[in-house]
Amino acid sequence: MLVQKGFKFRLVPTKEQKQKLLQQGGNARFVWNYFLKINIDYYKETDKFKFYHELAVFLPKLKKEYPFLKESFSQSLQMVARQFDKALKDSFTKEKGFPSFKKKNLLSDSFTCPQKWRLGKGFAFIPKIGEVRWIKHRAMQGKPKSITISQDGGRWYCSVLCEYDIEEQEKKTDNIVGIDVGLKEFATLSDETAVSNPKHLKKYEEKLVSEQRRLNKKQKGSKNRFKQRIKVKKIHTKIKNLRQDFLHKTTSNMITKYDGVVLEDLNVKGMMKNHLLAKSIADVSWSEFTRQLEYKAKWNFKYFVLIERFEPTSKTCSNCGLIQDMPLGKRQFNCPDCGISIDRDLNASINICRLGQSRINACGVGSKEPTLKQEKECLVD
Ligand SMILES: [Zn+2]
Repeated sequence: MLVQKGFKFRLVPTKEQKQKLLQQGGNARFVWNYFLKINIDYYKETDKFKFYHELAVFLPKLKKEYPFLKESFSQSLQMVARQFDKALKDSFTKEKGFPSFKKKNLLSDSFTCPQKWRLGKGFAFIPKIGEVRWIKHRAMQGKPKSITISQDGGRWYCSVLCEYDIEEQEKKTDNIVGIDVGLKEFATLSDETAVSNPKHLKKYEEKLVSEQRRLNKKQKGSKNRFKQRIKVKKIHTKIKNLRQDFLHKTTSNMITKYDGVVLEDLNVKGMMKNHLLAKSIADVSWSEFTRQLEYKAKWNFKYFVLIERFEPTSKTCSNCGLIQDMPLGKRQFNCPDCGISIDRDLNASINICRLGQSRINACGVGSKEPTLKQEKECLVD
């Protein structure tokens, strides 16, 4: 099975290179926003969208109109057309949101180079910029296919997308685990273990809430507001790094330990609308947690099953199957029928595990993934 994996390294650009990185990142953002704008207008008129081939033809014209775009490597701008095309299509098929305008003040610009880049000892050669020093803190695996340069606050990174082949293996079904994610514990597992939110991460999240509140109070357009925004951005970056570290360790351990993982599809998009910041921070972790489990399961030939949201996993007694109302604040599931008293999240995780297990069994054991049709049939059961 051919898989792709990204390896991210910190760049250490000179002052001059940094300026060029900012320019190229800004250009990619400019082109993205341009594509979005013309699509919005075009849709209003015709009820149709413009995809890659129609978008790419705008580029020569755009370069004439906006000469600063010539500072960019042409293929990077073409990549924006591809990326926009994909985002647009994903918004129809994958329940992802419609592409949105990219903002400069988020300091999160990026651009991709499909060709003409080079990786050397201690540097990455970026087209139109040159050799930029990088910190290669770990070895890469497979064949490098493209590089993406991204900004995160004041820092710049180079992600190398590598492709490599892994040998197929038969999947096992002996040790399947159900996982319930929550605010109290990060995850409660059906084998009665739990994963807590790391304390240091929580500390920074609390700090973010208070600094964000301060930012909201600062006068718009003021120097103090700008300073505060940088401060908030730095905490965001810190949280992101700590979170990634925690999630990678957690998901790797789980994939090593179990033959398969079962989770509820949380429809994070819907939950993000929640205005409580603590909740929205948790949502980011949950969706990233799910994403990591999915690809790590795939790479290691383990099962990954998502249970639909409408399954009443919290309300069902994991011992006898009785369904009762469970208000959010109620931490303990007390069953009036069989008399069991069990932690709310543990009860849910056991139900999640059972649903996943029955789906795996119904769809057939083996190294093949259940097909969409089979999955639908299983759901009907
Ligand atoms: Zn019961």
